[in-house]
Amino acid sequence: MPAAQLSEKGASAPFYLPQGDECEVFKAAYRGQMPLLLKGPTGCGKTRFVAHMAAVLGRPLYTVACHDDLSAADLIGRYLLKGGETEWVDGPLTRAVREGAICYLDEVVEARKDVTVVLHPLTDDRRMLPIERTGEVLEAGPQFMLVASYNPGYQNILKTLKPSTRQRFLAIDFDFPPPDREIEIVIQETGLAKERVALLVRLAGKLRALKGQDLEEGVSTRLIVYCANLIAGGMPLERAVQVALIEPLSDDADIKQGLRDLVAVVYG
Ligand code: ADP
Repeated sequence: MPAAQLSEKGASAPFYLPQGDECEVFKAAYRGQMPLLLKGPTGCGKTRFVAHMAAVLGRPLYTVACHDDLSAADLIGRYLLKGGETEWVDGPLTRAVREGAICYLDEVVEARKDVTVVLHPLTDDRRMLPIERTGEVLEAGPQFMLVASYNPGYQNILKTLKPSTRQRFLAIDFDFPPPDREIEIVIQETGLAKERVALLVRLAGKLRALKGQDLEEGVSTRLIVYCANLIAGGMPLERAVQVALIEPLSDDADIKQGLRDLVAVVYG
């Protein structure tokens, strides 16, 4: 089946408000059978974007949250003991290749080194997945797509993508949405009134300005959605801000007091 045959199932896709032309870039990557890397801070909409695009393109989605113990076998599969017999069980990457699905490796830099070895033949024009343990070599069809994400904001020299891996992907740089879009997102996600959301987004902007000085990471869109949800559910504003926008950002008493002072300025 040609890759360009897109089944546009937009109606059932999870809500996603684009920040720019990322939906077009994703579709072009899919049609051109090119892997895609999403760079950006945590909680800015990368996972939602992939879920949305998978639904729009009518492809199943396999999401893998990578962690420092994740190995190639976790992605490819392994022999498991079943009733005295060993049976091969596909991992999510193998399943995605076989089914012509989208495989999303969230925070791919966290994974163990042997994972990149597996990704290399899949992310160049060979589009092959060798399964050493079974001797199979799978060829990815036009509907298979590999998407990976990572957060370049963490200043960890050991946890960055090697150029030889990175240069196999198209890449899109994500950031938190501009205020008017973020307001729209939070309203859509929570139903909270616009004036209240607008103040929360303004507050988030002020908190984000502290990144690099007092805070390692700025407030994510995810946390604003959480905060608005709590408020929409009846929690007093001050408490919702404390548990959703202050405590998740820092453990340091002085910094937290500084954040509370900022809240007082915005809501003063
Ligand atoms: P990431 O994968 O970048 O860590 P997520 O995709 O999980 O972040 O986004 C966190 C939450 O923020 C989502 O569950 C959604 O509520 C909201 N969100 C962020 N950006 C958007 C967007 N552009 N459209 C719709 N929802 C968004």
